[in-house]
Amino acid sequence: MMSDRPRRLARLTVDLSAVRANWRTFADLAGDGEAGAVVKADGYGCGARDVAQALVLEGARTFFVATLAEALDLREALGDAHAIYVLNGPTDADVGAFAPARLFPVLNSLEQIGLWKAAGAATAAALHVDTGMNRLGLPPADVAAARDALARVDVPLVMSHLACASDPGHTLNETQRARFANVAQLFPGSRRSLAATAGAFCGEAYRFGLLRPGIGLYGDNGLDDAAPALAVVATLDAPILQLRDVQAGDTVGYGASFTAPGAMTTATIALGYADGYLRAASGRGYGVLAGAKCPILGRVSMDLITLDVTAAGGAAAIGARVEMLGANVPLRDVAAAARTATYEVLTNLSGVARHHVGAAG
Ligand SMILES: *Cc1c(COP(=O)(O)O)cnc(C)c1O
Repeated sequence: MMSDRPRRLARLTVDLSAVRANWRTFADLAGDGEAGAVVKADGYGCGARDVAQALVLEGARTFFVATLAEALDLREALGDAHAIYVLNGPTDADVGAFAPARLFPVLNSLEQIGLWKAAGAATAAALHVDTGMNRLGLPPADVAAARDALARVDVPLVMSHLACASDPGHTLNETQRARFANVAQLFPGSRRSLAATAGAFCGEAYRFGLLRPGIGLYGDNGLDDAAPALAVVATLDAPILQLRDVQAGDTVGYGASFTAPGAMTTATIALGYADGYLRAASGRGYGVLAGAKCPILGRVSMDLITLDVTAAGGAAAIGARVEMLGANVPLRDVAAAARTATYEVLTNLSGVARHHVGAAG
């Protein structure tokens, strides 16, 4: 028999009022246009259903996910009133599943356009043109053929994706913007969408009719620069399991990679890479307990991390929860400690016991 007790003790708290405030920032940037919401990868680890339901209360009407399964799940959570686009587009095997659930595929190639037409093109579809990312999307050389092929298909949205928007000064941004504006002219009846989170901050010229913020909803601006700041959405904490006084010369954890320079109090918390806290933050990340910064000592283990809690004094007690991500431990700091992107920090936490606050309408 399965125990009712929590299998993992770390906890992710997702503040839905902060998600709504962040979406509002993009809705304001969109002006007369619209802000959509990207909730792929289970809402960047924050819970796609809860996030989307909260955003509906705020006025969001258009959602993007990566896969058909994500879209079906979201359709169930939202009811029929909202537009859901599937970024990966249809495959031979699943093309028939879109229309019954009123899901809109994003068509990324002439092959997918062919599939969609062969299946009857029973709902609208978006067209994704690749303007320089060389990832998903129709190569520019195929756009004229696509327009002809789509002559009798309802295409309410033409989109593209920026490769370098995190650096607004990067020359590829303007190149992609100009290519996109050019291509979009071939679809005069369609709305346009170029900017994700960072692109929305690259200036009016990048915003077009529909913004597609993802990471921005979850608290990071997607830019290399920390400003502008967005509301903090995700807080990760974990309880102290054991405290110890170590002396100068004592080592901590696997590989004895940390040696205490003097006497200190250490705390071992119930969080590790099995929870999705990246092992790459070994010896570099930190937590905060009662306002005191508590550096990670040595390696992140599967289920455990040991911190220097000397500065926390009496607040360091068995069961006290240490914040490892949140208002006092910025997402950017965690990403920098793990030498990765904020995106990976969040999506990696999708398995942590999660609860939502700030939901009320
Ligand atoms: C993931 C994704 C987004 C959202 O990007 P963020 O940087 O998280 O805002 C938007 N559009 C496409 C095509 C994507 O794949």
